[in-house]
Amino acid sequence: MSQEIVFISGATSGIGKATAELLAKNGYKLILTGRRKERLVELENKLGAITEIKTLSFDITNNDELQKAFDSLPAEWKSIDILVNNAGNAHGLDPIQDGSIADWDAMIDINVKGLLHLSKLVMPGMVSRRKGHIVNIGSIAGKEVYPNGNVYCASKHAVDAITQGMRLDMNKYGIKVTGINPGLVETEFSEVRFKGNKERAESVYKGYSPLLPHDIAELIHFVITRPKHVNVADLLVLPTDQASSTVVNKNL
Ligand code: NAP
Repeated sequence: MSQEIVFISGATSGIGKATAELLAKNGYKLILTGRRKERLVELENKLGAITEIKTLSFDITNNDELQKAFDSLPAEWKSIDILVNNAGNAHGLDPIQDGSIADWDAMIDINVKGLLHLSKLVMPGMVSRRKGHIVNIGSIAGKEVYPNGNVYCASKHAVDAITQGMRLDMNKYGIKVTGINPGLVETEFSEVRFKGNKERAESVYKGYSPLLPHDIAELIHFVITRPKHVNVADLLVLPTDQASSTVVNKNL
């Protein structure tokens, strides 16, 4: 059982929540974050019975909230061993000429700037301890661009570049940096993308077997449990029914 401290952004649903559940069972101490406080309380009640949990509620686009939340951690909890940069979403799926500026800003602010701002709080401690592992949740959208995906794809291409940049710059300090890039995973992702339109969201996952959040949680657990000399640098993981962003073998 590990006693390491893992900070998971976006633990209130989907991939982040499944990762919290799996890592709790494996004894990790967890810092779980998201905006929805009631979900953080539920997680604390459930997982607090099996491991030590801290929850922090903040909007990752709000630097003051983020800084205050981080500062509120007891000193021993600030020595974060593993950072899972997972918080993120797509907002909208429109041709670029029809895209909403609010949606574009949300994706850049959450997926790119949020990841950077949180990492900026955690990386100096890892560097000074000469120890740490950052796992960035990118996407197939960071490896290829699909029609109407424009700015979401741009944000995830940025995550891919930041992952590579982190690996280069922290290489001499022995810090591992991993990019995990999933294809279609059935979470609240599409509900957010389509602004609460459940029918449209559900149609994304119909007619084939999508990945489940637990599948990605298992990969995260795999990469953080490799021996000290092994860093899994970059993973692209797809449902068997998916060959690319646009090619999915659906039986509808
Ligand atoms: P999800 O179920 O919608 O979860 C998104 C998480 O991010 C939630 O916990 C949410 O918490 C948090 N979050 C969103 N905006 C936030 C903000 N402004 N401040 C703080 N936290 C915020 O979606 P998911 O599929 O698990 O997504 C997790 C990651 O996987 C994302 O980076 C996504 O881009 C990536 N991904 C997903 C898929 C997929 O098909 N699902 C594929 C490839 C990559 P609150 O709402 O409580 O704040």
